[in-house]
Amino acid sequence: MKRTACSACGHTDLDQFLDLGLSPIADAYTATPDEDSPKFPLQLAVCAKCRLVQLLEVVPADVLFGTGYSFYSSASAPLSAYHAAYAADVRDRYPGLATRGVVEVGCNDGDLLRHFRAFPHVGVDPSSGPAAVAAERGCEVLVEPFGLATAQLIRSERGPQGLVFANHVLAHVEDVSDVLAGIAHLLRNNGIAMVEVQYLPDLLVNNAFDLVYHEHRNFFSLSSLESAAATHGLRVHDVELTDRQGGSLRVALSRQLSPTARVFKVRMSEQWLNDFSAYAGMQGRAERIRTRLREMLADRDITAVYGAPAKATTLLNFCGLDRRQLAYCVDTTAAKQGRHIPGTGIQILSPDTARGAVRPGAFLLAAHNYARPIVAANPGNQWILPIPAPVLL
Ligand SMILES: [Zn+2]
Repeated sequence: MKRTACSACGHTDLDQFLDLGLSPIADAYTATPDEDSPKFPLQLAVCAKCRLVQLLEVVPADVLFGTGYSFYSSASAPLSAYHAAYAADVRDRYPGLATRGVVEVGCNDGDLLRHFRAFPHVGVDPSSGPAAVAAERGCEVLVEPFGLATAQLIRSERGPQGLVFANHVLAHVEDVSDVLAGIAHLLRNNGIAMVEVQYLPDLLVNNAFDLVYHEHRNFFSLSSLESAAATHGLRVHDVELTDRQGGSLRVALSRQLSPTARVFKVRMSEQWLNDFSAYAGMQGRAERIRTRLREMLADRDITAVYGAPAKATTLLNFCGLDRRQLAYCVDTTAAKQGRHIPGTGIQILSPDTARGAVRPGAFLLAAHNYARPIVAANPGNQWILPIPAPVLL
């Protein structure tokens, strides 16, 4: 289904600037190399009114999350440390609010929420698997999608809340406005909502078109998030840029508190996003990356892929690369091993199995955000780093 109105403001003037063609659901890893992967258009548009960047094709949730294989696990050690520091920071900065109740939207396996177990709390997550893990960790969880209706239910039972978290949630929802309406409804007058999203300007500056896949429906700047929140009576009180997921934006939303100097600073740095040229160049840059990658791979006898994150699916499908060019893929995630990158037929091997396979002339480093540790841990290989522009390491 093609979107005709903005997910945040409802405006119908959506300007398409990136077309990556047809691509399969990024994490629907197939059991066999020839298994058919349904493909859907992958196009990005920017709203002419609120500047929210969004996918035009809205793949239904049951197709998106019901096809292949979804992954969850207890967070990695670095992510757990990130959550511990995040929880401590919010408790220090807004003392007393947690005692008035904490809700985490998209709590997953409770890795952040567990730091608030001593307070009245509830996590909301539509995926029963991760929610069960959160419950095992002692968190109260509601297994449901979140929106205004769920918020009304929680508020009627628990009253208005002091803290609401929604980390890496708004990117994935079909209706941004409904989720923000729910968050606003839950908050006490002096309550704070902590919202973290991947940061669009980093994606544009880094040519990271591979971060575009169907699960990732919305891409925010501070300005577009401020605009979406304002519709529901919330404003950005504070902002922080973090390095999670290739660059993330963390904001504190409030009804009462004024914006800090940091908010003005980040807002000013985003002036360039008001011009359509900020977006329009992305198509040409993605196509140049495709041409150059194909040339670099053609120059070598045998090549393979390193890393099978969701973004590898977008990268390989857009570039028209499959098992004819890339012999196999190496990934350390046990649940992916033995399966295949959607649309490519490329089998995912464990590092141990790959050591027994033929050594490639170069690895295409699909997990390029982990380039430094991967290259350091696997000396003696040649690496093709695809993003922001293909280079040989
Ligand atoms: Zn809009």
